[in-house]
Amino acid sequence: MDYRVLLYYNYTTIADPELFAKEHLAFCKSIGLKGRILVANEGINGTVSGTIEATDAYMAHMHADERFKDTWFKIDESEGHAFRKMFVRPRQELVALNLEDDINPRELTGKYLNPKEFKEALLDEDTIVLDARNDYEYDLGHFRGAVRPDIRSFRELPQWIRDNKEKFMDKKVVTYCTGGIRCEKFSGWLLREGIEDVAQLHGGIAMYGKDPEVQGELWDGKMYVFDDRISVEINQVDKQVVGKDWFDGTPCERYINCANPECNRQILTSEENEAKHLGGCCYECAANENNRYVVAHNISPEEREARLSAIAPEATA
Ligand SMILES: [Zn+2]
Repeated sequence: MDYRVLLYYNYTTIADPELFAKEHLAFCKSIGLKGRILVANEGINGTVSGTIEATDAYMAHMHADERFKDTWFKIDESEGHAFRKMFVRPRQELVALNLEDDINPRELTGKYLNPKEFKEALLDEDTIVLDARNDYEYDLGHFRGAVRPDIRSFRELPQWIRDNKEKFMDKKVVTYCTGGIRCEKFSGWLLREGIEDVAQLHGGIAMYGKDPEVQGELWDGKMYVFDDRISVEINQVDKQVVGKDWFDGTPCERYINCANPECNRQILTSEENEAKHLGGCCYECAANENNRYVVAHNISPEEREARLSAIAPEATA
């Protein structure tokens, strides 16, 4: 393990994100980092991988800059890079919540809970624990008893909350996400919506899994991550698999993207079922003429036909 993956964010002011992105990209490349960094007027959010020396150099560089001096880096050990390339991209906002009136987490955000306090909240019947991630992230792993918003993308979350408001108004609400950045804004937004008691897991699930005392307890499944690793373990105490195979519902923690390039839906499935369904999430995707699985696995036209007819929905008269 002589590589590391750094996950971090900082809500701070970056005056010229375009210019900053260019210069920052050049710096990252010069020290051999790979990864994805977003920059906006409101701050920076990144996941990068590199050798111990490179990641040390990066953290020192960031901490020497007045704007980023309080950045909290969550560090994972790794056997190699977790990305193939290095990107630094200017954006309008760091997390897409689609708020008509934006939140500045430096001014309004939920109380921070450390892992131990968060675990107590999980066990408290009067607290609603809300997963502030996307549905496919929840489906691979989540805190035991957490509420799963029925959304495909984070930007749909505010509307979902408004539609289900009666469930939350008089309760304590605690939110969590991967590294904490989404909750900074989301918990501030919940406060502004009139929910009075709002807290967030400080440092996100990533820190909860590393905390020497809680050791990820009460987390089920694995945590989805936005790099080549796809998922990481969190619970070191009493791990249970919660992911289910898209096709047959058996326990599964293996992610694939639907092989239809226009669909790309993320599903959990075994290698066997992936092969059976030609990597498609449904019959139409399996039969799609640009199916990537067929190309990547050199499936002959006869074999493709055979597999398609085996999974074809029964013809309706
Ligand atoms: Zn599909």
